Amino acid sequence: MLIILLGPPGAGKGTQAERLVKKFNLAYIATGDILRAAVKSGSPLGQEARIYMEKGQLVPDEVVVGIVSERLTASDCRDGAILDGFPRTVAQAQALDEVLREMGRQIDRVVYIAVDEEELITRLTGRRVCRECAATYHIKFNAPRVRNVCDQCGGELYQREDDSLSTVQERLVVYREQTTPLIDYYGRSDLVTEIDGNGDIEQIFSEISSVFEVESP
Ligand code: ADP
Ligand code: ADP
Ligand code: ZN
Repeated sequence: MLIILLGPPGAGKGTQAERLVKKFNLAYIATGDILRAAVKSGSPLGQEARIYMEKGQLVPDEVVVGIVSERLTASDCRDGAILDGFPRTVAQAQALDEVLREMGRQIDRVVYIAVDEEELITRLTGRRVCRECAATYHIKFNAPRVRNVCDQCGGELYQREDDSLSTVQERLVVYREQTTPLIDYYGRSDLVTEIDGNGDIEQIFSEISSVFEVESP
């Protein structure tokens, strides 16, 4: 089972994926997490990616396509994976189609999580992320039990640099211009299920879970 989570920054892709991978025992591929780990390590890839990420712009297609193609060949992806934050451009979607075709695999479903823009800004500017395990929290809507401490691993929570208001606004423009065309791209092959992402985290989780149950063998 190969599922893409599509939606604007702040839609809740990471929050839902965290729960879905546990429930359905799937591999998790989040390009943002992979790129942030590269930035932290200071590798050449990280040094290049950082320039784009801190401005709220997209990292070049070749770079992320390379990362995902390699990741998909790992053994934990054999039975299924959730893609979060990839593809983000039509060029990435086309490259993914090609890679999957060569592997004899296909996308089972694209879950598009739709959320109002005003809500996205409140979510992103209040987001906190675990330095150790990348679990996601919100200061009001999904607070950890102990302030600034991860419930899952005890790691320290931090605010992403690109979650500042000005960078969030830039990311929303980039999303509108470069990523929304994917709704149509996948819509043409009838792969898209739209979920209203404005409600309660658990309610949305149960709605997305029912989509996954349909796709499960
Ligand atoms: P994405 O991965 O799509 O960028 P996240 O899962 O990181 O989004 O969620 C963005 C922020 O909004 C986080 O702080 C998260 O805790 C919070 N959040 C996620 N889903 C909801 C929801 N349904 N209601 C309120 N806040 C949410
Ligand atoms: P969010 O959870 O807010 O949607 P991500 O963690 O997915 O953000 O991505 C953070 C940043 O990493 C993006 O603003 C972009 O610079 C880079 N990035 C992540 N995924 C991709 C991708 N598929 N293509 C290009 N850049 C990406
Ligand atoms: Zn943690």
